[in-house]
Amino acid sequence: MILQLVRRLPRFTASPSIRVSLGMSSLVVAMLLLLDLAFGVLPDPSGITRQWRERIAENLAIQTAAFVNTGDAQPLEQVFRDQLAREKSLLAVTVERRDGQILAHASNQLRHQPRNQDAAGDDVRVPLSSAGEPWGTLHVRFERLGPRTPWQWMLHPPVLIVTALGAGSFIAFALYMRRILAHLDPSTAIPDRVRSAFDVFSGGVMILDTQGRVMLANAALRSWMGATDAERLLGRAVETVPWFGKALPAARAEHPWVRAIESGTVRENDHLEFDRDTDAPVKVIANSAPILDGAGKVRGCLVTLDNVTHLDSLNNQLLASMTALMQTKEEVERKNEELLRLATRDPLTGCLNRRALFEKLDALFIEARDRGLPLCCIMTDIDHFKSFNDRHGHAVGDQVLQSTSQRLAGALRDMDVLARYGGEEFCIVLPGVTLEQAQAVAERLRSDVEALAGSSIRSTRDLKVTSSFGLSIFEPGITDPSELIDRADQALYAAKKGGRNCVRVFDGTAEAA
Ligand code: GH3
Ligand code: MG
Ligand code: MG
Repeated sequence: MILQLVRRLPRFTASPSIRVSLGMSSLVVAMLLLLDLAFGVLPDPSGITRQWRERIAENLAIQTAAFVNTGDAQPLEQVFRDQLAREKSLLAVTVERRDGQILAHASNQLRHQPRNQDAAGDDVRVPLSSAGEPWGTLHVRFERLGPRTPWQWMLHPPVLIVTALGAGSFIAFALYMRRILAHLDPSTAIPDRVRSAFDVFSGGVMILDTQGRVMLANAALRSWMGATDAERLLGRAVETVPWFGKALPAARAEHPWVRAIESGTVRENDHLEFDRDTDAPVKVIANSAPILDGAGKVRGCLVTLDNVTHLDSLNNQLLASMTALMQTKEEVERKNEELLRLATRDPLTGCLNRRALFEKLDALFIEARDRGLPLCCIMTDIDHFKSFNDRHGHAVGDQVLQSTSQRLAGALRDMDVLARYGGEEFCIVLPGVTLEQAQAVAERLRSDVEALAGSSIRSTRDLKVTSSFGLSIFEPGITDPSELIDRADQALYAAKKGGRNCVRVFDGTAEAA
């Protein structure tokens, strides 16, 4: 039953320093006891008491001697009682003749109590003689010497000295051992060949004990920190090394290896950045693996530190290059757009230029021809444009061009094509539009120009701007896109001839009506 209980108790596993201290303090106590056995070095307080008691007994014996001569017991018993009253440790005094007869007796017990019921104690016997012959014995009984209660035992000087020396030496040894162990070179615990093997690694490696103290730090890791830190690394808690201290989180529980030791599991990819006085900071990725014994108990931690400083700087360079590349690409795209705009647009009106017109017209022409879709073309020319230049100057002429092109563009669909054909002449291509629809469009454009192109020019009031429109449609007989334009131009000519500010459709004659 008791054994079972004992087995259930948590096992006390003392640290090596405690066990060594316990052994050493036991040795000290054993030495003291041996010395006491051989030389009596421990103080014996009962010796002095014993001497004192013997003197009392001798004193009483002298007074008893007088009684031997007078034979009067009364005064002698009075002497004994006085002595009993003075000396508290004195229990009884008895004068016994040689033949065993009690001649005088006094005790601190009740008077009528028989002598054999005196309290137990230490007897001092003094032989009495008369006329050179043994006459009897004086029995002086004292309280028993030495401690009796547990408390007295505890305060008994020899016990006190042994206990104090044992406990004191144990505490002193334990403190000393702790200090000594901390200062002992922990590297001696790891064989040289193991250390050399770790030194071969280009990455940082360190082995920590369960308290997070450095047991081993390989050459690569030491080379990253200052010489002072590297020399004083072993045996110290990692966070107390200044180089580490600055890079680690303030809370010790958050240090990667502390987490690995406490959880008993591997921690990976902890990013740390260590400052250096002269160089760029060292950037590392720490992996912390707990070291387990056969019973699965954590005995320490193996920490590997991969130096990713170079990789990180390459990464940053790559990022910077990519950003620059993206900017360049955007710039190139912007320039290309600009070039395309310059190559395809008329700078004054923003309409497509002649070259772009023919590109688009070619594509639309082929589509219309191949798919049998309708395709119309409108040529338009500002009426008496020369007079704007002549009357108001070239700049106003330009404004008339811009204003007219805006009116045209504003009235067309996205899929329609508007191009400045030359001078004050514009070409419009309308895909998928029948002749009737195109006529309506042309009419709308004409009225828009008439109504708005002149009035929107603010610098010159009351300008009346009109345009003439010529219209053609793709027909099976037309084999070339330019023929479509040519027909529209002929229709335009007819519109000019017909009084301007009107729409004419190509009707197959040289002068369309
Ligand atoms: P019509 O009604 O018969 O078309 O008469 P018009 O005066 O419009 O025709 P004309 O061909 O006689 O005059 C065209 C003028 O357009 C000649 C030229 O100086 C002017 N011109 C051509 N391009 C530009 C330009 O970009 N800006 C300016 N302001 N004028 C231009
Ligand atoms: Mg004109
Ligand atoms: Mg013209």
